[in-house]
Amino acid sequence: MGSPVVIIGAGVAGLTLAHQLVEQGADVLLVEKEHQVGGLARNFIYRNIVFDIGPHRFHTDDPEVDAYIRRVLGENILTINRNSKVWFYGRYHAWPLRAGTIFRLPLRIMARGSLDIFRIRSPQMHTFRDFVVSRYGRTLYEHFFRNYTIKFIGYEPSELHADWGRVGLDRAVIDKRYQVWSLSKVLISLFSAPKAPMQFLYPKKGGVAAFCQAQREHIEQRGGNVLTGLTVSNIRLEGNRAVEATLSDGRSVPLSHLVWSAPITELYRLCYGDSLDLEYLSSVIYNVIIDHTPLQDFQWCYFGTDDILFNRVSIPLHFSPYNVPEKGHGICVELSTKMGNFMWKNPQFKIDRIIQHLIAGRLVLDEREILDIFPEKIEYTYPIYKVNYREELKKGMGRLQQISNLHLLGRCGAFWYNNMDHSIAMALEMAKKGLEDPRRIEATTIF
Ligand SMILES: Cc1cc2nc3c(=O)[nH]c(=O)nc-3n(C[C@H](O)[C@H](O)[C@H](O)COP(=O)(O)OP(=O)(O)OC[C@H]3O[C@@H](n4cnc5c(N)ncnc54)[C@H](O)[C@@H]3O)c2cc1C
Repeated sequence: MGSPVVIIGAGVAGLTLAHQLVEQGADVLLVEKEHQVGGLARNFIYRNIVFDIGPHRFHTDDPEVDAYIRRVLGENILTINRNSKVWFYGRYHAWPLRAGTIFRLPLRIMARGSLDIFRIRSPQMHTFRDFVVSRYGRTLYEHFFRNYTIKFIGYEPSELHADWGRVGLDRAVIDKRYQVWSLSKVLISLFSAPKAPMQFLYPKKGGVAAFCQAQREHIEQRGGNVLTGLTVSNIRLEGNRAVEATLSDGRSVPLSHLVWSAPITELYRLCYGDSLDLEYLSSVIYNVIIDHTPLQDFQWCYFGTDDILFNRVSIPLHFSPYNVPEKGHGICVELSTKMGNFMWKNPQFKIDRIIQHLIAGRLVLDEREILDIFPEKIEYTYPIYKVNYREELKKGMGRLQQISNLHLLGRCGAFWYNNMDHSIAMALEMAKKGLEDPRRIEATTIF
């Protein structure tokens, strides 16, 4: 038997590729650092309540990806009408904004927003700030996006590349039929016909991780090997090939191909002992158990203003009733952070403020309604697109691409701010082309 294809990282991308390759009859070894597969699409279960890592829904306009998601989930599938919100000026508003939103805003904001129609748009879109002002109008930029960005990423929008908006912000909407409207576009929409609700797919039972678990079962049934709780401690290069990987338990694995869906920065360090100036954001999620049905009806809500500490909350019940048992409910609260900082090391210090802000956001009425809070640290949740990121990424990829049997995949591997459907699409494409194809797919899609 020859050397296996070794795939590092059993997130949606690694699992999809492994699934496709074992179906083609390949010998596949999947290596995952966590004790559970799924990556960012894994979940946590407390008191029988299923908490995904924030909201995790499937939506795609690509029929091949849609068919793949449906094939993996089989009967375990729900189609859900999206109900997402945004919080500003002490109220919840529909997100993407709807016509009715305009009447719920303070008068001065409404007046300023309507003037955005007449503002001249800059064709220069180098920074995220340019992108937002041009796409969403200055009023929404000043009153929502600037604060949200600083709170979420810790950078001024002018320090981030416009790609953060192209691949990050636009994707927050996901459904292409709906653009996120500037306030002026919301005004115009008052005169157009209402659109059908946006929908997404979600597993009926087991949270989003049920998808990844089903993939794992398919892979193992077809003879693929999935190892969890292991990382790569060394990669041996010979000429322009990666010939052997050493795993953290000391075993050596010969390589036919090495597919990397873990952070590209780690791969670069392993191959060259050098670092890349590419940063990832991490998150702490606080899984809150409450003693009543949630007071709000949304699946998830963004909090951009400073009156509320967290970035976003999501409500497991509104994804699937099977996510919560008969008694007890949950709310997932997200806060972004950097690995190694004070909050990362001491997530419990934020708990009192989180409770206060759950009350301020009318998610609970009283702290006695909160039965427990379980924080979880999640590494590498978002690639950060600083203004220089393209140059640094090109430099890193340029060097790594010289290794002829190495392939970069997924959100962390390609440093591409994608969603699950994009990770699936990348993996399907890679499996279709075959790993011998010299036109390997990398993050070049965004350049
Ligand atoms: C809060 C949040 C909400 C989101 N909501 C949605 C949504 O609603 N819809 C949607 O489509 N997408 C959503 N996404 C994005 C989605 O989670 C990702 O696009 C997708 O899960 C990425 O899959 P991946 O396999 O490319 O990467 P990852 O899931 O990051 O997988 C990489 C894997 O590599 C592993 N790994 C890391 N280092 C090593 C190592 N050294 N050795 C071995 N293994 C390693 C990791 O543990 C991980 O399992 C969301 C993301 C976040 C953070």
